[in-house]
Amino acid sequence: MTTIFHDECKCAVCGHTHTYTVMGSTNSFGYADLDFRPAGMQRRTMHYWLQECPECGYVSRSVEDEPAIPREFLELEIYRTCEGIHFESNLAARFYKHYMICLETEKVSDAFHSLLHAAWECDDCGDAENAVLCREKALPFTGRLAELDARNAEAIQVIRMDILRRSRHFEELKAEFENKTFEEEAFEKARVYQLELAARKDEGCYNFGDVLDD
Ligand SMILES: [Zn+2]
Repeated sequence: MTTIFHDECKCAVCGHTHTYTVMGSTNSFGYADLDFRPAGMQRRTMHYWLQECPECGYVSRSVEDEPAIPREFLELEIYRTCEGIHFESNLAARFYKHYMICLETEKVSDAFHSLLHAAWECDDCGDAENAVLCREKALPFTGRLAELDARNAEAIQVIRMDILRRSRHFEELKAEFENKTFEEEAFEKARVYQLELAARKDEGCYNFGDVLDD
């Protein structure tokens, strides 16, 4: 089960104290999606992944984290309006703001994952347009990420395949991955499965259970 508790945290940017809901533990039993979105209860815990200060708009895993950006950045119109993107969910907007902070502070991996998390939330609330937009913004990060994190380079390519397909870049997916092979068996099966889905222009959400049972 997921355990949550309440914690009073003081914002490192503006000093405002607010009570946040914090997640103690959860589980992710079951097959992850093809972009590694977790299964189980963890899937429904996104509300607790980031804190957003209601006073100054600072977003971080914990608002007590020392910010690497100045308060002025949080006051920019471009930040407050998520670059003019009208998200249907405040949570998606929160992930997007975290992406903007991570981009500004050159945290490439966190920027990428925040975009992906924003896309997941858009999926959940039926905001299809912004789900695609977030995935398209995430795509250019994958090359750099694979370089920075050689150990997980294959996994990052697996995520890239799913992002390409779910943002309807079917031809690019085919061109890029048709002649590739992955060492890890589950990833190789995912590649074959993704190409089959792309061939029938299927942009739906699938998990590793679908791949391995196929
Ligand atoms: Zn604050």
